[in-house]
Amino acid sequence: MSVSESVQMYLLTIYRLTQEGEVAPTNARLAERLGVSAVSVTEMVRKLHEKGLILKKRRAIALSREGERIALNVIRKHRLAERLLVDRLGIPWAHAYDQACKLEHILSDEVANSLEEFLGHPATCPHGLPIPDRQGCIAPQPETWPLAEVQAGQRVVIEQVKEGSVELLNYLVEVGLRPGQEITVEQVAPFDGPLLVSAGDRSFPLSREVAGKVAVSERASGQEGQLSDP
Ligand SMILES: [Zn+2]
Repeated sequence: MSVSESVQMYLLTIYRLTQEGEVAPTNARLAERLGVSAVSVTEMVRKLHEKGLILKKRRAIALSREGERIALNVIRKHRLAERLLVDRLGIPWAHAYDQACKLEHILSDEVANSLEEFLGHPATCPHGLPIPDRQGCIAPQPETWPLAEVQAGQRVVIEQVKEGSVELLNYLVEVGLRPGQEITVEQVAPFDGPLLVSAGDRSFPLSREVAGKVAVSERASGQEGQLSDP
């Protein structure tokens, strides 16, 4: 099914709101996120429902299988485009997001498949988010939690950084933090104060707000006795 850019944007937004753990996306949340009027949303939601792309239960909206397939296809193109922009064209990853938001609607499936090949089948986008495969499947992801919830003394790996916030990304780039990097939380100030984080021989403070947008996991391999005690 070939669908318009605006249908793609609605499906993508419903997918993202669902992923963010919203109770369930509603017309009101969609209007707010897309920056469009309640009337336009009502009209489009009716169309999407007619086309079988969404399911409705009272006010809650969910994607149908076909709706989800389309959303994941757009996400696949977005994340592959980000990889191209950052890895091959040297565009700072803090700025690649906006460009990829345009490319995601333009790339055909064939071009996306060739791009994936050309890039060597990357598993994630530069933010650490998984790239769906041609069938729209996402590989199992490590369990993550917000850096803001990590206790002092813990060693963790940055898995994902929330997309879209240029200021936040610029700051992380400035201090040299990116997905895949191992860090240690040195101190956690009381009363929701900042975290002191170290990577290698550098350490720097991160506000709770920033730390809340960084998802981390425990590094399994690092705990298997890299520091071998005789
Ligand atoms: Zn990304």
